[in-house]
Amino acid sequence: MLLKILIKGDPFLQKKINNIVENVKDLEIQKLILDMKETMEFNNGIGLAANQVGKNYRLFVLEFNKLFKVFINPEIKDVSKEEVEMEEGCLSVPGIFGIVKRPKRVLIKALNEKNEKIEYWADEMEARIIQHELDHLNGILFLDRAKSLYKII
Ligand code: ZN
Repeated sequence: MLLKILIKGDPFLQKKINNIVENVKDLEIQKLILDMKETMEFNNGIGLAANQVGKNYRLFVLEFNKLFKVFINPEIKDVSKEEVEMEEGCLSVPGIFGIVKRPKRVLIKALNEKNEKIEYWADEMEARIIQHELDHLNGILFLDRAKSLYKII
């Protein structure tokens, strides 16, 4: 089922989500993951956080190298000293793009959709998406971090 994506200006996007997922196997959570996948793909996104579709859970999904991944109760445990600048956009901020500087690599720890613990160093584009989506769960939009913004009509 396609979900409605909240757009910048909606106060829910600026709220830090504190609600961790207690039971990954819960039908509501499993359905949410499928719906978020469908919604992200339909909108040609590469990442989507639960609060972008109005859900109060610390959970996000991404698609990188044609792999779909789910991060539940995610935490960034460490970051590289090296930082890189990349262009970012956001399904909640249509038409606006900007250059954001972030650590190149991050050590991400989370649960996946099968309730398995995952922990690894993500690099490049994947590290970028992870940081952008984790920001969402903390109520932060890329606009808050961008050094320059531009509109594409
Ligand atoms: Zn976003």
